[in-house]
Amino acid sequence: MQVIERLAPVDGLCRPCRNRTGFKGISIHNTSNWSKGANAIAHANLLRGSWKYKTISWNYAVDKDYAVRCVPENEVAWCQGDGNGDGNMKTISIEICDNADGDIRKATDNAVILAADILKRNGVSNAKSFLFQHNNWTGKDCPYDIRRNNPYDWNTFVNKVQELLNNGKSEVVDQILHVGSKVKFNGVFKVDKIITQNNKYKNGAIGCYATCYGSPVGINDYIPSGPLAKCNRDGSNANYNGILNTGDYWCCDKVFEVKEIELPTKFTPNGVATLEADGVKFRVDCGPLLEV
Ligand SMILES: [Zn+2]
Repeated sequence: MQVIERLAPVDGLCRPCRNRTGFKGISIHNTSNWSKGANAIAHANLLRGSWKYKTISWNYAVDKDYAVRCVPENEVAWCQGDGNGDGNMKTISIEICDNADGDIRKATDNAVILAADILKRNGVSNAKSFLFQHNNWTGKDCPYDIRRNNPYDWNTFVNKVQELLNNGKSEVVDQILHVGSKVKFNGVFKVDKIITQNNKYKNGAIGCYATCYGSPVGINDYIPSGPLAKCNRDGSNANYNGILNTGDYWCCDKVFEVKEIELPTKFTPNGVATLEADGVKFRVDCGPLLEV
């Protein structure tokens, strides 16, 4: 499960920039925002947009794909509804997205993974004493779905966190990229455009909609072909000497160093990393990159 960071702005009201005053555990919520598209990144974007001046926030929003950190773990988020009480001041909040086009089971499972990781990092071995429903603080009917056994009940949630605490290894992958991060391309991609060998691209270059936020491919978004392998759609038969043509599939096992980072925007929700190959810098959507 990937953790990414889309921090709330510090010049509004949603992120008070106050340090937590202790650690009592984690408060669990459902967003109860069933709109299509209301996933974790969309919730992060709310805090960066129309909700910037509301005193509402959360440390994490989690969906079927990501845990998105919106307020750092050591800072207070306005989530538990108890003002300056222990809920807001001493717990880390996780909002589980229940958007109609999401997957409530995967999202809740991801919240389990994140909660276990947080507890582990805080030296907790007994999940039950450190997990709270929003309901615990104010009586609100939240987490709405879990309280209706969707996809499972509270005891199951707590037990799943405990299981992960017991077996030790964290399944969280911190995908927050910085200049100097080492990354790989995560998956198999299609060649959508080709530039043949020229002065700039000594091995040619490819344009790939999946790694550059779609069509058209920007002039700096072409990936030099040198380190890329031609392969089958499932990644088999990778051939690093193969000639890539439009419609082929490619993969790459090379590790790149991030040279520059562009912060996420509405149009580039994962941010953009600048990498280098064949002596040419190129821009890539951070989404398909895996930090190694
Ligand atoms: Zn809640």
